Amino acid sequence: MKMKAAVIRELGLPQPYGKSRPMKIEEVELAAPQNREILVQVKAASLCHSDLSSVNGNRPRQMPMVLGHEAAGVVVECGPGVDDLSPGDHVALIFAPSCGECISCKEGHPGRCEPGQQANGAGTLLGGGIRLSQDGKPVYHHVGVSAFAEYCVVNRGSAVKISKDLPFDQAALFGCAVLTGVGAALNTANVFPGSTVAVVGLGGVGLNALLGAKVGGASQIIAIDVHDDKLELAKGLGATAGVNAKDENAVQKVKELTGGGVDFGFEMAGSVQAMELAYRVTKRGGTTVTAGLPHPDARWELQHVNLTAEERTIKGSYVGSCVPTRDVPRYIDLFKRGMLPVSELMSDHIGLEDINEGFDKLASGRTVRQIIML
Ligand SMILES: [Zn+2]
Ligand SMILES: [Zn+2]
Repeated sequence: MKMKAAVIRELGLPQPYGKSRPMKIEEVELAAPQNREILVQVKAASLCHSDLSSVNGNRPRQMPMVLGHEAAGVVVECGPGVDDLSPGDHVALIFAPSCGECISCKEGHPGRCEPGQQANGAGTLLGGGIRLSQDGKPVYHHVGVSAFAEYCVVNRGSAVKISKDLPFDQAALFGCAVLTGVGAALNTANVFPGSTVAVVGLGGVGLNALLGAKVGGASQIIAIDVHDDKLELAKGLGATAGVNAKDENAVQKVKELTGGGVDFGFEMAGSVQAMELAYRVTKRGGTTVTAGLPHPDARWELQHVNLTAEERTIKGSYVGSCVPTRDVPRYIDLFKRGMLPVSELMSDHIGLEDINEGFDKLASGRTVRQIIML
């Protein structure tokens, strides 16, 4: 079938994107779903920082590609081997496809699925298929989803069925920002009642980590960002204090507020400076968790003896260490009970044709989630 999609051909074009226009709305051919795949009509797709990291060249990708991974839509057609979904079902799309067969999947950690990560690295669907093309030439998939388009074909393991009463714009957030952020707090860190937390980087994922820490019962949640308006937003969502990362006494301030540092320091900005700050505000014996995805060349320097002598833990968190089929319904439930007010993170609803301007806004740090409605 033919459909409209936002196609990117070149990474790292200069800002403003409203002028350089890295994404163009074009007609693309989408092949029918094959074994264990489904065709989904995309209803809402949000602009996430990891899309921006591809646009600005921080995350090298195969070109041309259709970006977009934080999305929700309606199942239109099920390929062979898919018997647990039907046309008309609503799904949230997940950027980490899982095969269900590899060691990580069998151990209950689908976010670590090796074939899934290989497929994402190669710009294909799980299993190696490419269903997008233009003039007979392949157009690559973005993390198995490619949702900046009217339709997408995804592996069954890239979709979670959700209840139909959840509006699509809200549902979209659950596939990436909510899973990654709330999961980092509740699954990776295991934030416990009375513990202290600092979140460095208040984008969609960082603010969700904050909400997750609140659900986990943290007694203090310190929000850290370079933008003062983000600190205010965080306070409205439950942060007990805000510290500007540019403040040269930032570490000292967190230590004073918490009596020596936090139990859990979260790096949610994807930068080495943010990682260093998150590590330094973590207390002795504490845990520093990172969900950041910096450029593959980024290296972080650590004083080895400090890790030993202060008995610290550093943990990576991918897809919030979630089991999406378990955690998406769980987090939607918390949302419905008012305990995860993720709709507060929605800044704007835009059209597919506004996508380049939308990324300018995201890059400015002045917005959390803009959602493309299709
Ligand atoms: Zn994302
Ligand atoms: Zn697997």
